[in-house]
Amino acid sequence: MINEEKSLNFIEEIIEADLRNGTHDGRVLTRFPPEPNGYLHIGHAKSICLNFGLGQKYNGQTNLRFDDTNPVTEDTEYVESIKNDIQWLGFNWAQELYTSDYFDTLYQYAIDLIKKDLAYVDDSTAEEIAAAKGTPTEPGVPTPNRSRSIEENLVLFQEMKDGKYQDGEKVLRAKIDLANPNMHLRDPLLYRIKHAHHHRTGNKWCIYPMYDFAHGQSDSIEKITHSICTLEFIPHRALYDWCIEKLEIYPSKQYEFARLNMTYTVMSKRKLLQLVNDKFVESWDDPRMPTISGLRRRGYTPASIRTFCDKIGVAKRENMIDVSLLEFCIREDLNKTAWRRMAVLDPIKLVITNLPSDHIEELHGENNPEVEGGEGSRMIPFSNELWIERDDFMEDAPKKFFRLGPGLSVRLKNAYIVTCHDFVKDANGQVAEVHCTYVPNSKSGEDTSGMKVKGTIHWVSVPHAKETEIRLYDRLFNDENPAASENFKESINPDSLKISKAFIEPDLLNAIPGKGYQFIRLGYFTLDTSSKPDHLVFNRTVGLKDSWAKEVKKG
Ligand code: ATP
Ligand code: MG
Repeated sequence: MINEEKSLNFIEEIIEADLRNGTHDGRVLTRFPPEPNGYLHIGHAKSICLNFGLGQKYNGQTNLRFDDTNPVTEDTEYVESIKNDIQWLGFNWAQELYTSDYFDTLYQYAIDLIKKDLAYVDDSTAEEIAAAKGTPTEPGVPTPNRSRSIEENLVLFQEMKDGKYQDGEKVLRAKIDLANPNMHLRDPLLYRIKHAHHHRTGNKWCIYPMYDFAHGQSDSIEKITHSICTLEFIPHRALYDWCIEKLEIYPSKQYEFARLNMTYTVMSKRKLLQLVNDKFVESWDDPRMPTISGLRRRGYTPASIRTFCDKIGVAKRENMIDVSLLEFCIREDLNKTAWRRMAVLDPIKLVITNLPSDHIEELHGENNPEVEGGEGSRMIPFSNELWIERDDFMEDAPKKFFRLGPGLSVRLKNAYIVTCHDFVKDANGQVAEVHCTYVPNSKSGEDTSGMKVKGTIHWVSVPHAKETEIRLYDRLFNDENPAASENFKESINPDSLKISKAFIEPDLLNAIPGKGYQFIRLGYFTLDTSSKPDHLVFNRTVGLKDSWAKEVKKG
């Protein structure tokens, strides 16, 4: 699964052979062809990294082409989000193009085919056409219109374009071979009538080309050298080549690779749109969504997504990638780049009894201990009352509990060693306060106490703590492969979002949008886009360790 050695993938092998043989004049021009009917997801990232990566590697270029042949589902909102996501991932296209800009040329191509007696107008209904197509083992039979004259076809096609007919009344079909074992060659549809407003061409057209009569031709118009798509297009390749051959246009070539499938999520725009419309998630960029915008809002970095796409490699067979690999990639990246901060999610109070109640001290902590120099430091206020995590204290601590309990000592991160001598319970029998003494000459970095303690815990000074909202995410589905079941929405995880409060150290009021922070011992967090200056919201991007596999085993 993981491509450790950098051997060539099969597409790179093809390209290198083409370059050696001088095919395509030694050029490499790829394209990324999204249909603007939804937001991009992590599967698209794989295609983006592959196409743009090949362009870069072979001194070539990559076009961004919006495959906008379906007026009903497409929207400019999607166009903008797609452009934004590609740039955010770190790629630049050579040209921004639209299949709809080729509608005139494609119409001419259709006329060319009719004139060569290679296309005809069929009045049959969709059901009649399907029934006459036969089955993979039985040849199809011609519909009555297959023998129409070229002249009649030219007139009818013109009338289709002029709006004389209703949706579905007529179609244009290629005249290829009704007995071909490849069903895609049994006189496939080339044009259908659709009286619909198009997001770019408005009401100019009421006939629209089918995917198979648009994609290869668009590649050819742009002189794309290697047109890379996913495996389900293998049976379309013969038609792709047929159109190019019969129209005598630039010989672009199609190659197919395995799409990305990932555990615990769905990856089709149609299904993602349902999650949004049915309000299972807040929006396309909900941090639980596998969309690029969701991952960004969750705190993923472009580098982590590129690394992931690199690690999964490019294969010719479908497989399922464990989402833990994606989480591994962001964890590795944030470990190197995230600034360390302190926050307490489930607080109890720790009182330092050998400090006066008005004691305030300015301590310091490195922003990033992973790099030389620590990327500077921030001031951490310290006082005699601190918030610590409830589970860092135990009334009857077992032997290997290296945190707080009566008689136990622990280091407070970036501060002092404290020893617990007492605790107080509230009326419900819950521990309310932990009383400790601190060791004055044990300050982090200047410790002369000679004391050895095994544990370090995080804390926030009570008078300086700021309250914030924290969003903890879990997988959106309980089923490893939700797309496999009839109704994928049945396996939605009802606990995929937990909202809680937290106390944060004051420096986090200056948190930078888009930057990752490690909340010490709690995980990696980033500011959510809904944050307001007086109400900060942090998303947990990922935990510090892969705890999920363990949870599942525990059941
Ligand atoms: P979806 O089914 O999610 O709507 P799509 O294939 O219809 O996906 P397009 O906008 O047509 O979406 O895709 C643009 C490009 O991204 C295509 O070349 C397509 O092959 C590729 N792509 C889409 N999904 C994946 C995936 N899961 N893995 C790899 N590439 C993908
Ligand atoms: Mg598509």
